[in-house]
Parts: sequence; structure tokens; C-alpha cells
Amino acid sequence: MGAPEFSRSKRKSQLERLGSIEYELLIIGGGITGAGIALDASSRGLKTALIEKTDYAYGTSSRSTKLIHGGLRYLKQLELGLVYEVGRERAIVHRNAPHLVLPERMLLPIVEGGTLQRFGTSLALMVYDLLAGVRKEERRVMLDSKKTAELEPLLRTDILKGGGLYYEYRTDDARLVIENIKTAIGYGAECLNYCSAGEFIYNEEGKVRGLHAVDELSGETLEIKAKQVVNAAGPWVDLLRKKDNSLQGKRLQLTKGVHLVVPYEKMPIAEALYFDRLEDGRMIFAIPRDGITYLGTTDTVYADSIESPECLAEDVEYLLDTVNSMFPSVGLTPDDVESSWAGLRPLIHEDGKSPSELSRKDELFESESGLISIAGGKLTGYRMMSKRVTDQVFKALDKSDPGCKTADIPLCGTAFKQQREIAELVERIFGESRQVEIPFDKIRSWVYRYGSLTEEIVAYAYQLQPTVKDARKRAILAELAFGIRHEQVCRLSDFFVRRSGMLYFQHPEVIHWKQDAIEFMAAELSLTEAECNEQMEQLEAELLSAIAFRGERVIN
Ligand code: FAD
Repeated sequence: MGAPEFSRSKRKSQLERLGSIEYELLIIGGGITGAGIALDASSRGLKTALIEKTDYAYGTSSRSTKLIHGGLRYLKQLELGLVYEVGRERAIVHRNAPHLVLPERMLLPIVEGGTLQRFGTSLALMVYDLLAGVRKEERRVMLDSKKTAELEPLLRTDILKGGGLYYEYRTDDARLVIENIKTAIGYGAECLNYCSAGEFIYNEEGKVRGLHAVDELSGETLEIKAKQVVNAAGPWVDLLRKKDNSLQGKRLQLTKGVHLVVPYEKMPIAEALYFDRLEDGRMIFAIPRDGITYLGTTDTVYADSIESPECLAEDVEYLLDTVNSMFPSVGLTPDDVESSWAGLRPLIHEDGKSPSELSRKDELFESESGLISIAGGKLTGYRMMSKRVTDQVFKALDKSDPGCKTADIPLCGTAFKQQREIAELVERIFGESRQVEIPFDKIRSWVYRYGSLTEEIVAYAYQLQPTVKDARKRAILAELAFGIRHEQVCRLSDFFVRRSGMLYFQHPEVIHWKQDAIEFMAAELSLTEAECNEQMEQLEAELLSAIAFRGERVIN
């Protein structure tokens, strides 16, 4: 499937359609849950619309640890059925986007005083391999302390007793969202960012039949009519339940999780690691990726503004102390932290439980007005959550249900039957695009983000060649052009934060290219000078926010 035309330049006609058609299903929220439902419902033939108040994946779905889990943590809680389901689910998500959901070998160090001990870890990983249906080549390997230290020389050795190797799957959460959205568009879904849901519209029997929405880019309002409305607003779910007067019984409990990014040279780990924090037994990830290492996460009760959770100095201290205690030669300080992100877990409140003890299971609420709300859950289980919601929508509509098809729907950009074809595509595109001088690493990172659609980005680089002589600038603008024309990039931060991930993983590059990028966007989308200034200010605020814990105030 090629890239759909999906651009802010088509916004006017999209708004006209949203204001004039009666949809069978209207989804509020363009995180992974809403995007997954949009794909499931549209591929089953429902006339579907989705609105997102900011940008796709703006909420929790761009701020996770970016792993598709196999369910190891559920084993600890003896939720065996869940391990079985999650392991199989992971295989499906990998199959449908093998360039975007990749196996990542993890080292679990076993240390004196840690929660994991040798026999227990070995047994747990063996049960996990069996229950989760782990592929033969990814099954657990147990190591003695010497082998573990050889594999990861930065680990402290005085308490090291051994290690276990197992696999998690790494992804890019925000890209998983946008690929679901783009695939849903291919099935006829109408998806619009920067469009927020306001008050609900009810019929005479008190049933929700649509809502008042605001176009956040123009300030104009519209009414969207729908037979069924789904609230997939993540941490904002309860605000919408409140608007519907149905916030009774179970409620959300938000917990904050922070991740830190340090340059790879500052923490040159050979393997991704999942290790014990000795003080409280919490598990922390350290993951090397594209020239950086990221660390996380914290898990603290949160009751502040949902819009802008921040990484605080105390979060940084917690994570750096943990890392420095397990990797003593590293000696990380807050000055080494290049970027950070903070996200909110929309969990279901349970009396007397600490953040880490709260279940990650999802729950569906259907109010008397017919509003369906979905809360809790994980990125990993998004397809199954979407299936449950869509099944429920069909029941509510009393419509014949052809059944869920998403297990067999490759996401946009997937044109691979085998893993080796991805590396072959990188080589081929690099070989064919020498004339536009895009570095091999850039092509490689594009293929693992955009899959086969990388060829369209390269085509834009050819188009730009006569006017943009600098090869690095050409590559950035070609990627941006693709984002504007095929991924509804409306604002500078949509591109730098969520489409390209550069604000988190290549912070200095954003500072370098932001001016060229806004000039290109202004020309592509006819932006006024005032809007360009406002967009630039917002991006600068986000750049600062990623390192705000240092107390810095100036971005050059
Ligand atoms: P969101 O992504 O928050 O989406 C909700 C959307 O609704 C937002 O974009 C918001 O702007 C929009 N919205 C809100 N109100 C309105 C309105 N009125 N009108 C229109 N739109 C609206 N899971 C994993 O499987 N693996 C991991 O490694 C992992 N790590 C995590 C690490 C952290 C620190 C956190 C916090 C979570 C992690 N999770 C992980 C969990 C996972 O990220 C979440 O479960 C998932 O992203 C939630 O997605 P969502 O779509 O429900 O919510």
C-alpha cells in the first residue's frame, strides 16, 4: 500500500465532511487505543471518524518505554492467561509491521539482594518461553557471573551472580499510532488532528448521538453526528465521562513515568538491560538505540495537569542513582541528560495499591447514554483492546458483524515477508539513491520508521535536489515533506516530536534544523508569519521542557 494523501491542506474538505455526514462510529482520541479502534472498525466496514485534540500520539502513546512486551511481568503476578495472550499478540503485531516492531535481546542481571535469583529467574523464563509461545531462537539463555560480566563489562561485579537473556520487542510508539491511522484511512476512516471533542449531543431518549467539536487550528466549531461514540482519551477518559454525567464506580488513577536520554558514549552498554533497583525492587530498563541510551522508568502517583507532565529534578535523581549504583564506572550526572519525556499511565484505581501494584488490564465502561469508554491497558495489547471495543460497538449498533480482521492487516509501510528483506531494502535504496547523497545510516533509520514508504521520501529528496544543495538539509526537508503531505503534520512539533522522534533522540539536530523546517512548512502550507512564530515558540518550549530539570532557560 502506498502512502495516502493525508495533509493539512485538505483540512477544509475534511471538516465539511465531518460536519455533514452521520457516522456509525466517532472515536475521541488519537492515541494507540483510538487509532487501533479506527483501523478495526473501518476494516469491518463501519463508517468511522476519529478526532484528536492535539496531534496523534500526543498523550501517553508517544511517551512510553516503546516496548511491545511478551508479558514477563504478568508471570510475577501469576496471571498465566495474560502471559499466553500477550505473547501471541506480540507475534501478530510484529508480523504486521516487522520493520517497526523488532526483537530486542535483553539482559537480566542477577545480583545479590535483588528480587531475581538464579533458580527463580531460570524457571520463570522457561515458563514464559512456553506460555508466551516464544520463538526457538529467542528462548532464554542463562549465564554465569563471568559470562554476564563479559557480555556487559559496565555492570558492577561485586554483587553479580549471573544473568538471563530473553527478548522484548522494541517499537516506536508514536509511529505505531500514525501507521494505524494511515492504514485506517485506507479503509475509509476520516481522521483529523487538532479537533477536540466538547459537549455531547443527546437524542430524546438521552442517548449520545454526536458532539460539539472545535477546530483547534481555526477556533471554529462544528457538530459531528454519530450513532455511536467511543471515548478513547487515555488519561483524559474521566473528563469525558464527567461531561457525560457517567463518572461513577471505577475511576482512573494516573501515575507518571519518566525516561531520560543520554549520549551513547556516556553509557555505552553492549546490551539492552532490565535490572533491579536494589532499594525498592523496581525494574528499570536501559536501552541503546541510534547513538543514544535511554533509561526508565519511574512510577509515581500523579494529580497535576494532564496536559503537560514534566520530568522533575527528583525523577532524574532517582533514575541516575539507580543507574550509577548498578554501573559504577558510568557516573552519570544531570548534565549528561540530553533529553527526557514524561508520560501518564491511565490505570484503573484500586484502593490501597501502590502505583507499581496497580493492574495494567484494560476496562470498558458503557454509560446509560451509550457512551463507550476504554481505559487502562498497554501499548502491547492495543489490537485486542480495539477488537473488544469494536465488538461492543457492533452489538450497540445491532449490526451484523463480519468479525475482526486486524490480525491479518499489514500496517502502512509493511512490504516484508521476512526480516532479511528489511535489510535488503536498506541496501537497495542506498544503492539507488547515491545521487541525492543520503547517508546510509539515514536510509537505515527511515526504513525502520517508514518501511517501504522510504522510497517516497527519497523521491522527495530528488525533487528538492535542484534547490537544496546541502545534502543533510535535503534529507531533513524530504522527510518533512513526506510528513506534511502524507502524515498530516500541521505543526513543527508534530514532525520533530512524534513523526521523526528527533526531539527525544537527536535533540541537537532539532536545534540545528528548526528554522529551515519552519520556512519549508510555511511555504508548503501557506502559514502566516504569526503562525510560524507561534509554532517556533511552542517547539522551543518543548525543547526546554525536555531538559527543564536542569533549570536552563536559553535555547540557541
Ligand atoms: P493516549 O495515548 O494518551 O491517547 C489519548 C488521546 O486522546 C490523546 O492523544 C489526547 O490528546 C486525546 N484526547 C483527550 N481528550 C480529547 C478530546 N476532548 N478530544 C479529542 N481528543 C482528546 N505500554 C507498553 O505496552 N509497553 C511499554 O513499554 C509501555 N511503557 C510505558 C511507559 C510509561 C512511562 C507510560 C506512562 C506508559 C507505558 N505503557 C507501555 C502504556 C502505554 O503507553 C499506554 O497504555 C498507551 O499509550 C495508552 O494509549 P491511549 O491511546 O489509551 O492514550
